Amino acid sequence: MAEVIEFSGPVLTGPQTVERGAWSVDGRLTFSRPATPPGRVLAGWVLPGFVDAHCHIGLGPSGPVDSGTAQEQAAADLNAGTLLVRDAGSPADTRWMQGGRDFPVLIRAGRHIARTRRYLRGFAEEVEPDGLVEAVRKQARDGDGWVKLVGDWIDRSAGDLAPSFPAAVVRDAVQAAHDEGARVTAHCFAEDTLDQMLDAGIDCIEHATGLLPRHLPRFAEQGVPIVPTLINIATFPEIAAQADPKFPRYAAHMRALWERRLERVAEAHAAGVRIFAGTDAGSVIRHGRIADEILALHGAGLPVAAALDSACWAARAWLGADGLEEGARADVVVCREDPRAVPGTITSLDHLVLGGRIIR
Ligand SMILES: [Zn+2]
Repeated sequence: MAEVIEFSGPVLTGPQTVERGAWSVDGRLTFSRPATPPGRVLAGWVLPGFVDAHCHIGLGPSGPVDSGTAQEQAAADLNAGTLLVRDAGSPADTRWMQGGRDFPVLIRAGRHIARTRRYLRGFAEEVEPDGLVEAVRKQARDGDGWVKLVGDWIDRSAGDLAPSFPAAVVRDAVQAAHDEGARVTAHCFAEDTLDQMLDAGIDCIEHATGLLPRHLPRFAEQGVPIVPTLINIATFPEIAAQADPKFPRYAAHMRALWERRLERVAEAHAAGVRIFAGTDAGSVIRHGRIADEILALHGAGLPVAAALDSACWAARAWLGADGLEEGARADVVVCREDPRAVPGTITSLDHLVLGGRIIR
């Protein structure tokens, strides 16, 4: 007999569209009442399982973690309602988690690619410019359709943020990834790095703290989304305080980027730039904070429906995953109240259903 769960509450099939009457039948959603009576009836408002578009499973404060720790990280994300993770670079091979019944669906980017000694030690595959294209090809083949570049970092000789690689090399590297059928995203803090990445035909920008009004039309026209990771940007003042004695220019730059963090997100949204929710959990940020990031985006000025969309319907469509439609994989979260009216309801979800299995 089929395994049936009934969702008796309103189902948000989009940020503004509500259906009534949905069921999971053997792990697939349907909007027609099945012949088999439900084994369980779950009440509440139904949303697609949240997407964390910038998360690092298998990464800890000093590099790769063991599989037990990676499993705990994935469990923390799952319990918070993150049922789909775009991993934004991990030094640990987490392929063993994929297809499991107990883990979020995982889209891997392979390892971060950084310039030699220009990123956190032990995190990235580190290369010089003449090795970038080959490194990108390798990660494109190893990952699940995404490659992660560290686009800029402190250049200690200059005492400030600077692009990791020359523009022409970045262009060739992005082209190489596209030839391999992969998309490229880049960690970018500084203003000038964004011009280089847009010129190269990048597919997504992480953090995007250097976003200036001059960049906005290009992001919108080229359809390049940003993942602001606001709960991680909140740590910039601490980074600046530590750097101050040796690198005062860099520290001042980081503080200035932090000061504009909310306006920048609001301006991007107003200009039609797509925004997705990512926590950057893994090294500094603990796992399981997707609701905090959604609420931070709302706090920055995104209307609540847009903030939810950054981790729900739009995020799933962007990553090629199912939303809430007939025949979709039953990956849903259930909250007590309408999250558009009571956004805080997403911080304590009543139920989680992963692939048609009730986790909670
Ligand atoms: Zn990250």
